[in-house]
Amino acid sequence: MYFGPGWWLLVPGMLLMFWAQTQIKSTYGRYSQVASSLGVTGAQAARQILDNNGLRDIAVEAVPGELSDHYDPSAKTVRLSEGNFYSTSVAAVAVAAHECGHALQDAKGYWPMNVRAALVPVANIGSSVGPMLVMAGIFFSSFSFLVNIGILLFAAAFLFHVVTLPVEFDASSRALKLVDGEMLQGEENQGARKVLTAAAWTYVATTLYSLLQLGQLLMLRNNR
Ligand SMILES: [Zn+2]
Repeated sequence: MYFGPGWWLLVPGMLLMFWAQTQIKSTYGRYSQVASSLGVTGAQAARQILDNNGLRDIAVEAVPGELSDHYDPSAKTVRLSEGNFYSTSVAAVAVAAHECGHALQDAKGYWPMNVRAALVPVANIGSSVGPMLVMAGIFFSSFSFLVNIGILLFAAAFLFHVVTLPVEFDASSRALKLVDGEMLQGEENQGARKVLTAAAWTYVATTLYSLLQLGQLLMLRNNR
């Protein structure tokens, strides 16, 4: 995270990120206490979804940590946090199905996922080094070309967050269709939707924050 001149521009993004974090904590917390009526664990739900969609070669593993769930495309493995792996809660089934949604995207060659993967290295550099280059270019006038390079790098990081949005929304909409009637029944589906919507807001908040950071850098460039 980077502060500096024009920090006030970041405040709405920080507030939205804070709100989104409280939402996911409370919604996930609530629905991880609601047992699903069919009694399927997160691990069983993931296995069943993958098998039903011809993805028997994709492994399902438990990993430590809370909400550390993810799909690893290089290892072709769905990793579920221990809490979700063993739990039969509505939240556990929803998260497991979401990660299987990413596995399905991978299997079907869903192009935003490939674009996102391609942007990872430059986005990592851009979000950390980009602002530093901008500041260096402003302080040392003979290196002013660094300002534009820093902004371009940071723009790539912003683009990464933008492309993450369709990838995450699509995985969740796939997940909700996959569990309906199979692992969750009736109102449980609304619970799953609430959990995945709260998770989606964290990605929206991060993207907005990144946009505001980009705006801050452009403002510094124009005011120098
Ligand atoms: Zn996801």
